[in-house]
Amino acid sequence: MLRFTKRADYGLMAIHFIASHGDDGAVSAKRIAEEFRIGGTCVIRGCVPKKLMVYASRYKDQFADAAGFGWNLAAPSFDWPRLVAAKEKEISRLSAIYRDNLEKAGIAVEDGRAEIEDAYHVRLLGGGRKVSARIILISTGAAPVLEPDVPGREYAITSNEAFDLSELPKRMLIVGGGYIAVEFASIFARLGTEVSLAARGENLLRGFDDDMRTGLREGLARAGVKLNFGMLPTRIEKTPTGYRVSLTKGTRVDADQVMIATGRRPNTSGLGLEKAGVERDSLGAVKVDAFSKTNVESIYAVGDVTNRVALTPVAIREGHAFAETVFGGRPEAVVHSNIPTAVFSTPELGCVGLTEADARAKFDCVDIYLASFRPLKAALSGGQEKILMKIVADGATDRVLGVHILGEDASEMAQLLGIAVKMGAKKADFDATMALHPTSAEELVAMRTRTARFEREIAGPEGPDCGPLDEG
Ligand SMILES: Cc1cc2nc3c(=O)[nH]c(=O)nc-3n(C[C@H](O)[C@H](O)[C@H](O)COP(=O)(O)OP(=O)(O)OC[C@H]3O[C@@H](n4cnc5c(N)ncnc54)[C@H](O)[C@@H]3O)c2cc1C
Repeated sequence: MLRFTKRADYGLMAIHFIASHGDDGAVSAKRIAEEFRIGGTCVIRGCVPKKLMVYASRYKDQFADAAGFGWNLAAPSFDWPRLVAAKEKEISRLSAIYRDNLEKAGIAVEDGRAEIEDAYHVRLLGGGRKVSARIILISTGAAPVLEPDVPGREYAITSNEAFDLSELPKRMLIVGGGYIAVEFASIFARLGTEVSLAARGENLLRGFDDDMRTGLREGLARAGVKLNFGMLPTRIEKTPTGYRVSLTKGTRVDADQVMIATGRRPNTSGLGLEKAGVERDSLGAVKVDAFSKTNVESIYAVGDVTNRVALTPVAIREGHAFAETVFGGRPEAVVHSNIPTAVFSTPELGCVGLTEADARAKFDCVDIYLASFRPLKAALSGGQEKILMKIVADGATDRVLGVHILGEDASEMAQLLGIAVKMGAKKADFDATMALHPTSAEELVAMRTRTARFEREIAGPEGPDCGPLDEG
């Protein structure tokens, strides 16, 4: 669900926010229809509960590290139902705040599913009412898919259920190699579950920088996650003690829970889009222009349902831009580049901008600055973790194209680096910035020695002007 700043008399919003008008055509109400719980995926079964569980899982390392700093602790034990209950209390609190804010903003909250009837009408299934709307905003998000479609897949859970398991599984198989699979593998492994992960590819986290992917893969293996690459389930069978999963290549894994995290699909099925003539792409996502408008004049769509960049801040920004465009008289298109991103595994990955591979595909000269070091804390804790940092710069202009960090607080650093990269900072600006000592982040302004330069091979005078090679 999206959060909008209140603006008086915005005649909005979606199928999740609908502005209806009376018979005289005047805007008489703003409505939001929600079929599950106010707060949407992020608050109820996404970012927020996930991060709470990440915090819970990291105590394992912190208890172990404490001994090196002189602490004597009794052997810690973990109570999963207590964590689930605490998490539930917090998301219920947040959900209530959102509902309250909507009501204070004069928005009618319709509990129940909504479906589009035509360009100007929505059916509210809760009470069977049909309401009219000058503008309809679809922000119905996305839902996990249970794929591959193999016998027994109905036994598997998705991230939706993983947050509320009645007990902590002793053995768990997670299927998928994307950020949701990786984060849950990291969480459950630290909470005490024996975790196996099966992914179709030969590495985790397709689309992220290759050095970070390898570092993260090593980190997961260190945490005890058994990694099975190039493998997907072919069958899931129930056994007296749990489930037996057959994987391609003949491997078998026994588990108490099987979690499928192979992707998410936009929530457009049965929404009535055909009746209204709203176009979708091959994945079912609502097609929109740069201003989030569909091919139907009165219908807009934002967030995961449009499958642009499926992240909460992006959905929120698209919602703001929609409001400015339609009701504020200031058309605004959202720029979907240089979005800071994190994977909240342990070690954590934070990044902004282009990966090395993307930069090399797009630019003629690419400079790489790579550092790997043990954090100061590890000197006493004895921890094996390393921090990996990479700056990707355009060799011709010195502009920083991307920064990638693997290690503690990487997400916090990525958020701030996002400002510098967005502003077009050069590598020389990083070098000119005074270090803050002792921190891990200071390495970002101390990476003076270029570790690699890649020049596109273009023969003759057309070749790239990458500047001198000996300055790094
Ligand atoms: C496990 C997990 C972890 C994540 N972690 C992060 C993270 O760390 N950082 C980040 O930025 N993003 C994260 N995301 C992604 C983030 O949750 C989504 O990008 C964001 O919630 C999208 O917002 P939205 O408003 O488009 O859709 P949603 O938040 O999904 O909201 C859509 C709402 O519409 C309701 N709905 C659907 N159909 C109807 C209908 N017909 N009638 C009425 N209501 C309907 C749904 O119940 C839902 O509440 C995570 C997602 C998951 C699943």
